[in-house]
Amino acid sequence: MFESLSQRLSTTVQRLRGRGRLTEENIREALREVRVALLEADVALPVVKALVERIKVRAVGQEVLKSLTPGQALVKVVRDELTALMGSAASELNLNVPAPAVILMAGLQGAGKTTTVGKLAKLLRERRKKKVMVVSCDVYRPAAIAQLETLAGQVEVLFHPSQPDQSPVDIARGAIESARKQFVDVLLVDTAGRTTIDQAMMDEIRALHAAINPVETLFVVDSMTGQDAATTARAFADALPLTGVVLTKTDGDARGGAALSVRYVTGRPIKFIGTAEKMDGLDVFHPDRIASRILDMGDVLSLVEEVERKVDQEKAAKLAEKVVKGKKFDLNDMRDQLEQMQNMGGLNSLLDKLPGIGQIPQHLKDKVNDREIVRSIAIIGSMTKKERRFPATLNGSRRARIARGSGTTPADVNRLLKQFQQMEKMMSKLSGGGIKGMMRGMKG
Ligand code: GDP
Repeated sequence: MFESLSQRLSTTVQRLRGRGRLTEENIREALREVRVALLEADVALPVVKALVERIKVRAVGQEVLKSLTPGQALVKVVRDELTALMGSAASELNLNVPAPAVILMAGLQGAGKTTTVGKLAKLLRERRKKKVMVVSCDVYRPAAIAQLETLAGQVEVLFHPSQPDQSPVDIARGAIESARKQFVDVLLVDTAGRTTIDQAMMDEIRALHAAINPVETLFVVDSMTGQDAATTARAFADALPLTGVVLTKTDGDARGGAALSVRYVTGRPIKFIGTAEKMDGLDVFHPDRIASRILDMGDVLSLVEEVERKVDQEKAAKLAEKVVKGKKFDLNDMRDQLEQMQNMGGLNSLLDKLPGIGQIPQHLKDKVNDREIVRSIAIIGSMTKKERRFPATLNGSRRARIARGSGTTPADVNRLLKQFQQMEKMMSKLSGGGIKGMMRGMKG
């Protein structure tokens, strides 16, 4: 997300960062570049104006010009203002009501509403340990009801069936009743989407809102529509007491105009962002982390959280113990590590969160190929147990057999074994009492 905006803004601010002295001319120049970068990212014009103005006021003030490191001070100002624009702190879901807490989901057709209901149900069940039920009030498209039922099964939450001949209000009331009886904590109500916001849609959802009195009303919108996303959300917020916005498909959005515009244009916080099609592709929206990511300062906090959530702690502990005790690192360990990387969404999703990566051209990033991980796992999978434990036994004919078995070439197998040898060398350095030495090496 934000690749192009990030590339432009970070180049501008990096240039200033190292400077010992800034003049008003430098700053004016930088602000011009910031402005162009934001407009190109499809940020709404009033938002661009307001943001640049706020940065300017602070940039020509004492805070920056009198600072010992004015370049860095300016970068901090840009970061602060971007964060403030998106709403400062992450906005939590309000679930502090008598159960079931009802969350009403609305959005245009194709925005990713039903998918988001599935993802949110999963997130609430897994991370917040809630008992969740979902229901669809989309009586116009029976396929939408079936789609939600499938997703509910996939993410293992309760599904309240609805019939196309019922009214949305009746369906939702029935679901609340059933949720209460089954001690459900959170009920997610999916609604019909239209291609554009029209009066009939608004009337229907307003009636639904009045009937079920949800604690959260979330508007789901496709980030790829740029500043239009903010305008659509605004129209919606004018008609209903919206409590927040979910931005979907940020994985396909290089510009980021929606993320930067929504809060300012609607006055409502973005609560979640969709980051992938799959069911765990939903993240809490953290304005500060996103601002850092845009300025290519990295999003190390999200990375750490992701690692904690997705790494198999048991396997990691086992490997660490092996290293400490100086036991031999083998191809089974390497496969475990590759699988862990895959669990974390592959290298590309990790790369996105690291500082400075925005400076690397896309064609080089593409070289960090997740297919390589899949291929390596397949190669190791084609070895016998013994070969994995004792890689030294892998002679030419065995390598050829493994290549055939895994649908790769002997050159691929050789490359993997070479990588293995490098890892092995590093591991033995670690266990040879060299941990401290290596840490020193890394810092220096
Ligand atoms: P609805 O009509 O609003 O209910 O939209 P759907 O939930 O059916 O989603 C429309 C399409 O968008 C589907 O193909 C989804 O897989 C896709 N989609 C939804 N959210 C995301 C996301 O965050 N990332 C990506 N890449 N695709 C998404």
